[in-house]
Amino acid sequence: MTYTAVELIELKRDGGALPFDAIAWLIDSYTQGTVPDYQMAAMLMAIFHQGLNDAELGAWTEAMLHSGETLDLSDIDLPKVDKHSTGGVGDKVSIPLAPIVAACGVAVPMMSGRGLGHTGGTLDKLESIPGYTTALDPDRFRSILSEHGLVLAGQSEVMVPADREIYSLRDATATVPSIPLIASSIMSKKLAEDLDGLLLDVKQGSGAFMEDLQEARRLAKTMVGIGSNHGVAVVAFITSMDQPLGREVGNANEIRESLDVLRGQGPADLTELTLTFAEAMLELGGVPGGRERVEEAVESGAALEKFRDLVSAHGGDVAVVDEPKNLPEAGYEERIVAPRAGHVHRCDARTIGTASTRLGAGRQRKEDAVDHAVGITLLAKIGDRVAEGDALATVAFNDPALFESQRDRLASAWLIEDDPVQAPILVVERIS
Ligand code: URA
Repeated sequence: MTYTAVELIELKRDGGALPFDAIAWLIDSYTQGTVPDYQMAAMLMAIFHQGLNDAELGAWTEAMLHSGETLDLSDIDLPKVDKHSTGGVGDKVSIPLAPIVAACGVAVPMMSGRGLGHTGGTLDKLESIPGYTTALDPDRFRSILSEHGLVLAGQSEVMVPADREIYSLRDATATVPSIPLIASSIMSKKLAEDLDGLLLDVKQGSGAFMEDLQEARRLAKTMVGIGSNHGVAVVAFITSMDQPLGREVGNANEIRESLDVLRGQGPADLTELTLTFAEAMLELGGVPGGRERVEEAVESGAALEKFRDLVSAHGGDVAVVDEPKNLPEAGYEERIVAPRAGHVHRCDARTIGTASTRLGAGRQRKEDAVDHAVGITLLAKIGDRVAEGDALATVAFNDPALFESQRDRLASAWLIEDDPVQAPILVVERIS
């Protein structure tokens, strides 16, 4: 059967189901460059509105997975467990998590993504380390993993190329928050890694692509289902993303905060989530020791040492590990101040993520470069008490006009009321 992109777009636009071989043809043709961006963009918008049924989703994920090479990690004796987040603001968990887990004897072959919409991306954050390359061919990916027990890279040209292209196209066409598109994007990358186990952090709340708990649950169950169809043990955590995680939102500043976690000096919410996930990844890998072992990896410095190995293996400047000041720094800094005294009821993740992206920490178009030095440091989060005029955040930026364009947006992220309030619960649900 031969297809044209137009007839398939039409079919999906009108609520029809795409034949399996048509999905394979479309993804292959897009990856080869014979279906152009504008037609795939139209298809993504049609899927955004009409969805994919289970069979289509299976076929779409398979086609992405086989759009390039897959890894064979059978020569690595350690259990191989990865983690992936559906995307949040200030969500740098993967960066301290991978070295902690690797230091406990679980191999972490992590293939991550870039910033998407108002959310940050692990690759963009890592690339703020001078020299750190996230583009590895499969041989190099395998050899770093085999030598150090962890690797944090992007999809190379040859691995899951369809997701690399579709991911950035979605970012520029407002088609990110779609359960089938998120599930297939994440699971195609993860299934290409030859894993024994996978931990999924499904973010829910204002700063997540899934604001609603039911939707987050549906996404989590969809991905757990895809994993079990492929024989991979998957545990999904639904975690709160109403306010940013930790205190730093940006790129270089998120690396600094990740180093704090590895030194045992990170903020409580980020540290707690990182250690909870580390414990669950040990469980998925069948490695004993639980929370105690994970904490020991931090306290002994073993996890920080693993991070040093990782940076060095990826060609990065290891000096930043001991001297985070060597990371890019912005030319200007301003404060956002509390308009009144009281308790912080809202510190809105989406608003802060959008402002950070617009300031240059993320992209407006897929070809945009990221300004790694731009970042927001949160000084007041939900539950904190503030006095009038206290700084709620400091903002580091390089373009004063851009800052002025975002100042009011940023200030609107906070709501301060008289009555005390509790910080949101971090882990909402565990699904396996
Ligand atoms: N992370 C991904 O890899 N893909 C998405 O679509 C969203 C988050």
